[in-house]
Amino acid sequence: MTEESGKITVTNPATGEIAGTAKLCNADDVNAAVEKAYDAFLKWSAVGANKRAAILFKTAELVRRNQDELARLLTTEQGKILPEAKNEVQGFAAVYEFYASITGTARNGDALPKSDYGYAFTMREPIGVCGAIIPWNMPVLIMAWKTAPAIAAGNSIVLKPSAKTPLCALAIAALAKEAGMPDGVLEIVTGSGEGVGRALAQSRNIASLSFTGSVATGKEVERLSCGTGKRLIMELGGSDPMVVCADADIDKAVAGAVSGRFYNCGQTCTAVKRLFVADEIADEFTEKLKAATAKITVGNGILKGIRMGPLNSREGLAGIESALERKGSGEVVSGGNRLTEGAFGAGNFFEPTIVLNPDEKSPLLSEEIFGPVLPVVSVNSLESAIEYANKTPFGLGASVWTTSLKNSYTFAESVDAGIVWVNRHLKIPPEVPFGGEKASGYGRENGLDALKHYTRDKTVIISP
Ligand code: NDP
Repeated sequence: MTEESGKITVTNPATGEIAGTAKLCNADDVNAAVEKAYDAFLKWSAVGANKRAAILFKTAELVRRNQDELARLLTTEQGKILPEAKNEVQGFAAVYEFYASITGTARNGDALPKSDYGYAFTMREPIGVCGAIIPWNMPVLIMAWKTAPAIAAGNSIVLKPSAKTPLCALAIAALAKEAGMPDGVLEIVTGSGEGVGRALAQSRNIASLSFTGSVATGKEVERLSCGTGKRLIMELGGSDPMVVCADADIDKAVAGAVSGRFYNCGQTCTAVKRLFVADEIADEFTEKLKAATAKITVGNGILKGIRMGPLNSREGLAGIESALERKGSGEVVSGGNRLTEGAFGAGNFFEPTIVLNPDEKSPLLSEEIFGPVLPVVSVNSLESAIEYANKTPFGLGASVWTTSLKNSYTFAESVDAGIVWVNRHLKIPPEVPFGGEKASGYGRENGLDALKHYTRDKTVIISP
């Protein structure tokens, strides 16, 4: 991605070729979009629930109808393999369908008991113009998580995609318009974090800002937003632990580890970033994990048969290499290298990598590693795995693999995480709340929680 003469040029991470261009907007463009979104909000908030639902359903329908084209665009701008891109586009439609189906109750209030002062009830109202800043790793799904509940509840929203992946957001906003979404309800402002992102955070005219990205940028966005009065959702980085107990179904756990770590080339907030396996099964598990990892074909994700695409950027690639080079980073038993031969040289390719028993203080166990490297540590009990799991500042997702209800429950109640899976990792359906704890952020997206964020209570007391 480069920024020059008023435009962003997006680079295909697999080939180094130009994937497309978008306008390089600035703070004035943000303010103009917010004003336009405010005018739209005044009308949209008064539109009946059925009509709002119909437009969300229609948007989902058009996205499904155009899924092949959108998936190709996503692969070209982001790098993930085509089946994953298609899955993400379908995920967008599923989120829109979910919120369309509950638009009718999105603003339900409560009837309260009669008091000495009369009857009381609450109305839930939309909050106004909302803002969203999203990263490049899941640009389509995260766009849906932020825009669908806000729009369903009757708000308008101004969204900033990453300058690395602005193309799908623009294409989907055009489909929403075709579906009947009024002008200004869904505004996309493309540009840099420093230009567009900063202006959104500092705006006093938006009621909410939902941010997804790294911990460091999240802190900066919090600082910039301070004093503006907006409500915030922070969806930040993670270093999810996966714990495999001695009683687990080993083959199922191996498959879960491979998809949990190498999906999207390891660039998923809730990827398996640290794996703890019971001593008793560690050798068998590791051998099977190595064999499954060796089968992953790496290449341009647009091609058939490829299981893992490139990293999104050269900086991402360099970050992985530097983490592996640091002292105490363990024994590399599979992969470990950048791929540079032939066509690989033009892209950001790295082998799927397994590392055994790095030091506790190594970046592989103490920081968020955003790429296809899986550190595996053997542990002598579930308690010690949980202790390890809770050692990082993060608290996003976590999984335990076991056939024991007791282990499942012990893990779920002891691990620091916003979402816990048992015998699975990664998948998050639209109807369940999602968000992190500790350094991984606060607030919840998806489910009914998101609707609460995008509405406000007004209490009405009627005296007899
Ligand atoms: P960044 O924090 O670098 O960027 C996120 C967004 O913030 C981008 O749109 C970026 O713009 C923008 N931005 C950058 N600087 C500023 C600024 N000063 N003010 C306002 N906005 C700014 O994260 P990445 O894009 O590298 O994404 C990866 C991170 O996101 C990982 O840590 C990952 O774990 C996390 N993530 C968390 C999820 C969750 O739900 N908890 C889900 C997915 C990812 P630009 O890119 O144009 O510079």
